[in-house]
Amino acid sequence: MSHTVVFRRGRIHDPANGIDGAIGDLWVRGDRIVEPQSQADVAVDLDGLVVMPGGIDLHSHVAGPKVAVGRRMQRPSPAGSPAAVPTIHATGSLYAALGYTTVFDAAITPAAARLAHQELAELPVLDRGIYVLAADDEEVVRSLAGGSAEARARMVADRVHASRAWGVKVANPGGNRFWKAGRRGDHRDLDEPLPGVPLSGREMLARLAAAVDDLKLPHRLHVHTINLGLPGNWRTTLETMQAFDGLPAHLAHIQFHSYLGGDADETTFGSGVEPLVSWFNEHPELSLDVGQVLFGGTMAMTGDALAAEHLASVTGMPWSAHDGYLEGGCGVLPVTYREKSLIHAWQWAVGLEWFLSAADPWRVVLSTDHPNGAHFTAYPTLMRLLGDEAFRREAFARLHPVVQRKSPLASLTREYSLNELAIITRAAPARLAGLPHKGHLGVGADADLTIYRPSADLSQMFAMPARVYKAGVLVAEDGHLRDHTPGAALVAR
Ligand SMILES: [Zn+2]
Repeated sequence: MSHTVVFRRGRIHDPANGIDGAIGDLWVRGDRIVEPQSQADVAVDLDGLVVMPGGIDLHSHVAGPKVAVGRRMQRPSPAGSPAAVPTIHATGSLYAALGYTTVFDAAITPAAARLAHQELAELPVLDRGIYVLAADDEEVVRSLAGGSAEARARMVADRVHASRAWGVKVANPGGNRFWKAGRRGDHRDLDEPLPGVPLSGREMLARLAAAVDDLKLPHRLHVHTINLGLPGNWRTTLETMQAFDGLPAHLAHIQFHSYLGGDADETTFGSGVEPLVSWFNEHPELSLDVGQVLFGGTMAMTGDALAAEHLASVTGMPWSAHDGYLEGGCGVLPVTYREKSLIHAWQWAVGLEWFLSAADPWRVVLSTDHPNGAHFTAYPTLMRLLGDEAFRREAFARLHPVVQRKSPLASLTREYSLNELAIITRAAPARLAGLPHKGHLGVGADADLTIYRPSADLSQMFAMPARVYKAGVLVAEDGHLRDHTPGAALVAR
């Protein structure tokens, strides 16, 4: 007989079950939430404390070869801050202390999947999964160009199975093929045929989304579209949203794909969120994570060699592209975001504009595209920026003056409630990842609980949960790890 624990009188935020701060009890037996029992082995008093399901990071970079390269390339972090690219052990420890209990690595090539799984087997506490970069693989590309729908689905299934992946990712459809053919990081059209194969980026996206849908994989196609980071890329992002023809798709780090501008003159750079969010709000089959930029030093890493080489060329930083050897592409380089930089200030404002103008939080996921936009340990600061307008205004007033004058963010007064913050950090990512036993606190759910001390300072509240339970086990308390046991690998069948 498993151990039964009752958590008494917590203030419960469980948006998936329509509970918005009601005081109640939660019963846990073993690793699951159960119906109220006649008696408990242990009672835990939660008077005055807030309870949410464990956090779920739908898009992060925590393992595999490019993360390893990032660890070697990083500069020393300021005293007291974690490494920009932590070791696998520090990654799990920091996530768990923050109240996160599940993480997905968003970009692993099929050839690197074994290595990534080996590394992830040592990730403390969190359940974890990977999205496989299937679309750089030569056989998959040929099948997408010429095969039947059935053959394409079989080919994608084969890569998912061989990689023990949870989902399928496409990073810059066809981009690495262009890069290997000598193309560099200028603006590309979604309809341009890929070198050496009768297939456009648009066709690749539509056919991959159809294959993922045919296979009934738990997570919809995870899309990093073309022209990441380039001025004027909002047009190809809108075309991307339109390419799926009603099929579900998840747009990753949308912030990096939502810019105005069209030439080398940086004064034309700006926010392209408005036309994109109008389309997004009307199309319930689409979801996204934001990839928020926060100021400070970090490490850029992507499966998109074109974007990374372009960033290296404009910043003058050394970069690595070694996943090109793994039938993929990648780029890793250090980056520092500054408030007074026109471009960086726009990136910050564009991300927040997305959060505050996307109408349905169930299709929006909090992310910084760790470590690209910021380290995941900065999530509490981001949550305060969303939930505390006065705090956001103070930060806005420090930005480059042109952005203060022009950004639509200046007129957005929305504040996220605690339940909305719980949606974008747990309930929505669980639903979008296809994890019915996570992201909520109903009977049968995993007993992954994060218990916070409420505070008017949301960044303080979310930075240090009082207690974190994973599968019913106390794993962290006031920032200290109590249990290092690795979680489970999430593998699609
Ligand atoms: Zn990413």
